[in-house]
Amino acid sequence: MSKIKNAEIKYYGVRGSIPTPGEKFKEYGGNTTCLFIELEDDIIIIDAGTGIRVLGLDLLKREFGTKEGGTAHIFFSHTHWDHIQGFPFFIPAYLPQNTFHVYGETKEIKGLDAKDKEVLETWTIERTIRTQQTFMFFPASTQNMGSKLIFNELNFNSEKKINNFSVKTIRLRHPNNSMGFLFNFAGEKFCFCTDVEHNDEMITELSKFAKGCKVLAYDCQYTPEEYVDGKIGWGHSTFEAAAEICEKGGIENLHMIHHDPMHDDQFIKKLEKRAQQRFKNTLAVKEGFNFFI
Ligand SMILES: [Zn+2]
Ligand SMILES: [Zn+2]
Repeated sequence: MSKIKNAEIKYYGVRGSIPTPGEKFKEYGGNTTCLFIELEDDIIIIDAGTGIRVLGLDLLKREFGTKEGGTAHIFFSHTHWDHIQGFPFFIPAYLPQNTFHVYGETKEIKGLDAKDKEVLETWTIERTIRTQQTFMFFPASTQNMGSKLIFNELNFNSEKKINNFSVKTIRLRHPNNSMGFLFNFAGEKFCFCTDVEHNDEMITELSKFAKGCKVLAYDCQYTPEEYVDGKIGWGHSTFEAAAEICEKGGIENLHMIHHDPMHDDQFIKKLEKRAQQRFKNTLAVKEGFNFFI
Protein backbone atom coordinates (compact mmCIF):
# COMPACT_ATOMS: atom_id res chain seq x y z
CA MET A 1 0.00 0.00 0.00
CA SER A 2 1.40 3.36 -0.93
CA LYS A 3 1.88 5.82 1.87
CA ILE A 4 -0.71 8.56 1.71
CA LYS A 5 0.84 11.98 1.79
CA ASN A 6 -1.06 14.19 4.16
CA ALA A 7 -0.81 17.93 4.30
CA GLU A 8 1.77 20.66 4.21
CA ILE A 9 0.57 23.72 6.07
CA LYS A 10 2.10 27.20 5.92
CA TYR A 11 1.10 30.37 7.73
CA TYR A 12 1.24 33.48 5.54
CA GLY A 13 -0.28 35.80 8.14
CA VAL A 14 -0.66 35.44 11.90
CA ARG A 15 -1.29 39.02 13.04
CA GLY A 16 -4.70 39.90 14.43
CA SER A 17 -6.92 42.91 13.79
CA ILE A 18 -4.70 45.10 11.58
CA PRO A 19 -1.44 44.72 9.64
CA THR A 20 1.47 45.61 11.91
CA PRO A 21 4.72 46.44 10.12
CA GLY A 22 7.89 47.57 11.87
CA GLU A 23 11.27 46.54 13.17
CA LYS A 24 9.88 45.24 16.47
CA PHE A 25 7.35 43.02 14.73
CA LYS A 26 9.40 41.46 11.96
CA GLU A 27 10.06 38.11 13.63
CA TYR A 28 6.41 37.13 14.08
CA GLY A 29 5.32 39.19 11.10
CA GLY A 30 2.76 41.86 10.49
CA ASN A 31 0.45 40.33 7.90
CA THR A 32 -3.08 39.42 8.91
CA THR A 33 -4.60 35.94 8.76
CA CYS A 34 -3.91 33.68 5.82
CA LEU A 35 -3.14 29.99 5.86
CA PHE A 36 -2.10 27.72 3.01
CA ILE A 37 -2.61 23.97 2.98
CA GLU A 38 -1.33 21.72 0.24
CA LEU A 39 -2.56 18.18 -0.16
CA GLU A 40 -1.60 15.66 -2.79
CA ASP A 41 -4.47 16.73 -5.06
CA ASP A 42 -5.87 19.88 -3.49
CA ILE A 43 -4.98 23.36 -2.36
CA ILE A 44 -6.79 24.98 0.53
CA ILE A 45 -6.53 28.60 1.66
CA ILE A 46 -8.06 29.88 4.89
CA ASP A 47 -8.84 33.60 5.02
CA ALA A 48 -7.59 36.40 2.81
CA GLY A 49 -5.90 38.73 5.25
CA THR A 50 -2.90 40.65 3.92
CA GLY A 51 -0.82 37.45 4.00
CA ILE A 52 -2.65 36.23 0.90
CA ARG A 53 -0.81 38.82 -1.22
CA VAL A 54 2.50 37.05 -0.60
CA LEU A 55 0.87 33.63 -1.03
CA GLY A 56 -0.40 34.85 -4.41
CA LEU A 57 3.14 35.70 -5.50
CA ASP A 58 4.28 32.20 -4.50
CA LEU A 59 1.38 30.60 -6.39
CA LEU A 60 2.32 32.53 -9.55
CA LYS A 61 5.66 30.67 -9.55
CA ARG A 62 3.80 27.41 -10.02
CA GLU A 63 0.68 26.23 -11.92
CA PHE A 64 -1.31 29.39 -11.11
CA GLY A 65 1.16 31.39 -13.20
CA THR A 66 1.13 29.00 -16.19
CA LYS A 67 -1.28 28.70 -19.12
CA GLU A 68 -2.88 25.60 -17.56
CA GLY A 69 -3.72 27.43 -14.35
CA GLY A 70 -4.60 26.07 -10.92
CA THR A 71 -7.54 25.44 -8.62
CA ALA A 72 -7.86 26.20 -4.91
CA HIS A 73 -10.52 26.15 -2.20
CA ILE A 74 -10.73 29.34 -0.13
CA PHE A 75 -12.51 29.12 3.25
CA PHE A 76 -13.47 32.28 5.11
CA SER A 77 -13.69 32.14 8.91
CA HIS A 78 -15.65 35.41 8.72
CA THR A 79 -15.37 38.69 6.86
CA HIS A 80 -13.92 41.19 9.32
CA TRP A 81 -11.34 43.33 7.52
CA ASP A 82 -8.28 41.54 8.80
CA HIS A 83 -9.58 38.32 7.16
CA ILE A 84 -10.54 39.67 3.72
CA GLN A 85 -8.46 42.77 3.02
CA GLY A 86 -5.73 40.95 1.09
CA PHE A 87 -8.14 39.54 -1.48
CA PRO A 88 -8.01 42.53 -3.90
CA PHE A 89 -4.20 42.03 -4.02
CA PHE A 90 -4.36 38.28 -4.68
CA ILE A 91 -3.00 38.28 -8.24
CA PRO A 92 -3.86 34.65 -9.17
CA ALA A 93 -7.54 35.66 -8.89
CA TYR A 94 -7.06 38.08 -11.81
CA LEU A 95 -5.84 35.38 -14.23
CA PRO A 96 -8.48 33.61 -16.34
CA GLN A 97 -6.81 30.20 -16.22
CA ASN A 98 -7.36 29.89 -12.44
CA THR A 99 -10.40 28.65 -10.50
CA PHE A 100 -11.27 29.44 -6.88
CA HIS A 101 -14.02 27.72 -4.94
CA VAL A 102 -14.94 30.15 -2.16
CA TYR A 103 -16.77 29.06 1.02
CA GLY A 104 -18.30 31.12 3.79
CA GLU A 105 -21.30 31.73 5.99
CA THR A 106 -24.43 33.58 4.89
CA LYS A 107 -25.28 36.19 7.51
CA GLU A 108 -28.79 37.53 8.11
CA ILE A 109 -28.24 40.94 9.68
CA LYS A 110 -30.93 43.19 11.08
CA GLY A 111 -31.05 46.94 10.72
CA LEU A 112 -28.72 47.71 7.83
CA ASP A 113 -31.66 49.02 5.80
CA ALA A 114 -32.05 52.60 7.01
CA LYS A 115 -35.81 52.65 6.34
CA ASP A 116 -36.71 49.70 8.49
CA LYS A 117 -34.37 48.58 11.22
CA GLU A 118 -36.28 45.30 11.59
CA VAL A 119 -35.67 44.16 8.03
CA LEU A 120 -33.18 41.33 7.77
CA GLU A 121 -30.54 41.74 5.13
CA THR A 122 -28.84 38.72 3.61
CA TRP A 123 -25.08 38.91 3.23
CA THR A 124 -23.72 35.89 1.43
CA ILE A 125 -19.97 35.43 1.27
CA GLU A 126 -20.22 36.44 -2.40
CA ARG A 127 -21.98 39.72 -1.61
CA THR A 128 -19.49 40.68 1.09
CA ILE A 129 -16.39 39.86 -0.95
CA ARG A 130 -17.77 41.70 -3.98
CA THR A 131 -18.79 44.72 -1.84
CA GLN A 132 -15.23 45.11 -0.56
CA GLN A 133 -14.21 45.82 -4.15
CA THR A 134 -16.92 48.34 -5.04
CA PHE A 135 -15.71 51.67 -6.44
CA MET A 136 -15.54 53.63 -3.19
CA PHE A 137 -13.14 51.15 -1.63
CA PHE A 138 -11.03 49.76 -4.48
CA PRO A 139 -10.46 50.54 -8.18
CA ALA A 140 -10.84 46.98 -9.51
CA SER A 141 -14.12 45.16 -8.91
CA THR A 142 -14.31 41.38 -8.51
CA GLN A 143 -15.87 41.40 -12.02
CA ASN A 144 -12.46 42.61 -13.22
CA MET A 145 -10.88 39.55 -11.66
CA GLY A 146 -10.57 37.19 -14.60
CA SER A 147 -10.43 33.90 -12.70
CA LYS A 148 -13.43 31.69 -12.16
CA LEU A 149 -14.78 32.54 -8.69
CA ILE A 150 -17.34 29.98 -7.53
CA PHE A 151 -19.06 30.98 -4.31
CA ASN A 152 -20.54 28.41 -1.92
CA GLU A 153 -22.56 28.85 1.25
CA LEU A 154 -21.10 27.01 4.22
CA ASN A 155 -23.22 26.45 7.33
CA PHE A 156 -22.25 26.01 10.95
CA ASN A 157 -22.24 22.45 12.31
CA SER A 158 -21.92 20.98 8.85
CA GLU A 159 -19.55 18.52 7.26
CA LYS A 160 -18.39 18.71 3.69
CA LYS A 161 -16.37 16.20 1.74
CA ILE A 162 -14.34 17.69 -1.09
CA ASN A 163 -12.17 15.36 -3.18
CA ASN A 164 -9.83 13.66 -0.69
CA PHE A 165 -10.40 15.83 2.37
CA SER A 166 -13.31 16.71 4.60
CA VAL A 167 -14.09 19.78 6.65
CA LYS A 168 -16.40 20.18 9.65
CA THR A 169 -17.53 23.58 10.88
CA ILE A 170 -18.49 25.12 14.21
CA ARG A 171 -19.92 28.48 15.28
CA LEU A 172 -17.38 30.51 17.27
CA ARG A 173 -18.27 33.20 19.83
CA HIS A 174 -17.32 36.46 18.13
CA PRO A 175 -19.22 39.63 17.16
CA ASN A 176 -21.55 38.35 14.39
CA ASN A 177 -19.88 34.92 14.64
CA SER A 178 -16.80 33.38 13.20
CA MET A 179 -16.43 29.87 11.81
CA GLY A 180 -14.05 27.24 13.10
CA PHE A 181 -12.81 24.46 10.80
CA LEU A 182 -11.78 20.89 11.45
CA PHE A 183 -9.99 19.42 8.46
CA ASN A 184 -9.45 15.73 8.04
CA PHE A 185 -6.65 14.77 5.67
CA ALA A 186 -6.51 10.99 5.30
CA GLY A 187 -7.08 10.52 9.03
CA GLU A 188 -4.88 13.37 10.29
CA LYS A 189 -6.87 16.19 11.81
CA PHE A 190 -6.08 19.89 11.86
CA CYS A 191 -8.34 22.41 13.58
CA PHE A 192 -8.31 26.14 12.85
CA CYS A 193 -10.26 28.43 15.18
CA THR A 194 -9.59 32.12 14.94
CA ASP A 195 -11.55 35.04 16.27
CA VAL A 196 -13.17 33.26 19.18
CA GLU A 197 -13.93 34.35 22.72
CA HIS A 198 -14.00 31.58 25.30
CA ASN A 199 -16.51 30.80 27.98
CA ASP A 200 -17.12 27.48 29.73
CA GLU A 201 -19.54 26.32 27.05
CA MET A 202 -17.25 27.28 24.17
CA ILE A 203 -14.28 25.50 25.80
CA THR A 204 -16.33 22.32 26.23
CA GLU A 205 -17.74 22.51 22.70
CA LEU A 206 -14.33 23.10 21.15
CA SER A 207 -12.65 20.33 23.12
CA LYS A 208 -15.23 17.93 21.66
CA PHE A 209 -15.05 19.44 18.19
CA ALA A 210 -11.24 19.28 17.98
CA LYS A 211 -10.92 16.03 19.95
CA GLY A 212 -7.74 14.11 19.23
CA CYS A 213 -6.48 16.42 16.52
CA LYS A 214 -2.81 16.82 15.76
CA VAL A 215 -2.80 20.62 15.82
CA LEU A 216 -5.21 23.24 17.07
CA ALA A 217 -4.53 26.74 15.74
CA TYR A 218 -6.32 29.05 18.16
CA ASP A 219 -6.85 32.78 18.77
CA CYS A 220 -4.51 33.67 21.67
CA GLN A 221 -4.68 37.44 21.15
CA TYR A 222 -4.72 38.55 24.78
CA THR A 223 -2.79 37.74 27.91
CA PRO A 224 -5.09 36.46 30.67
CA GLU A 225 -4.53 39.80 32.46
CA GLU A 226 -5.43 41.91 29.42
CA TYR A 227 -8.50 39.82 28.85
CA VAL A 228 -10.05 40.43 32.26
CA ASP A 229 -8.85 44.03 32.32
CA GLY A 230 -11.01 45.52 29.58
CA LYS A 231 -11.12 43.01 26.73
CA ILE A 232 -14.10 40.89 27.76
CA GLY A 233 -16.64 40.94 24.94
CA TRP A 234 -14.09 41.87 22.25
CA GLY A 235 -14.31 38.42 20.68
CA HIS A 236 -10.84 37.03 21.35
CA SER A 237 -9.21 34.56 23.69
CA THR A 238 -6.15 33.58 25.72
CA PHE A 239 -3.56 30.80 25.93
CA GLU A 240 -5.16 29.62 29.18
CA ALA A 241 -8.46 28.90 27.45
CA ALA A 242 -6.56 27.28 24.59
CA ALA A 243 -4.63 25.05 26.99
CA GLU A 244 -7.85 23.95 28.64
CA ILE A 245 -9.34 23.00 25.27
CA CYS A 246 -6.19 21.03 24.38
CA GLU A 247 -6.15 19.15 27.69
CA LYS A 248 -9.84 18.31 27.63
CA GLY A 249 -9.76 17.32 23.97
CA GLY A 250 -6.52 15.32 24.01
CA ILE A 251 -5.06 17.62 21.37
CA GLU A 252 -1.37 17.13 20.60
CA ASN A 253 -0.16 20.62 19.68
CA LEU A 254 -1.33 24.17 20.19
CA HIS A 255 -0.51 26.93 17.71
CA MET A 256 -1.06 30.43 19.08
CA ILE A 257 -2.31 32.76 16.34
CA HIS A 258 -3.99 36.17 15.81
CA HIS A 259 -1.24 38.04 17.68
CA ASP A 260 -2.30 41.39 19.07
CA PRO A 261 -0.92 44.45 17.18
CA MET A 262 0.30 45.81 20.55
CA HIS A 263 2.45 42.71 21.17
CA ASP A 264 5.91 43.00 19.66
CA ASP A 265 8.37 40.12 19.11
CA GLN A 266 9.82 40.25 22.63
CA PHE A 267 6.38 40.29 24.18
CA ILE A 268 5.15 37.31 22.13
CA LYS A 269 8.27 35.32 23.04
CA LYS A 270 7.55 35.83 26.73
CA LEU A 271 3.90 34.99 26.20
CA GLU A 272 4.89 31.77 24.43
CA LYS A 273 7.07 30.76 27.42
CA ARG A 274 4.18 31.32 29.81
CA ALA A 275 1.88 29.34 27.54
CA GLN A 276 4.37 26.45 27.36
CA GLN A 277 4.43 26.27 31.16
CA ARG A 278 0.68 25.81 31.03
CA PHE A 279 0.59 23.45 28.00
CA LYS A 280 3.96 22.07 26.89
CA ASN A 281 3.39 21.55 23.18
CA THR A 282 2.65 25.18 22.44
CA LEU A 283 4.08 27.32 19.68
CA ALA A 284 3.52 31.02 19.06
CA VAL A 285 3.37 30.91 15.29
CA LYS A 286 5.63 33.10 13.17
CA GLU A 287 4.65 34.27 9.70
CA GLY A 288 6.18 31.88 7.17
CA PHE A 289 6.20 28.89 9.53
CA ASN A 290 5.35 25.62 7.82
CA PHE A 291 4.85 22.06 8.99
CA PHE A 292 3.55 18.70 7.83
CA ILE A 293 0.83 16.53 9.31
ZN1 LIG B 1 -9.45 38.85 13.23
ZN1 LIG C 1 -13.08 39.14 13.71
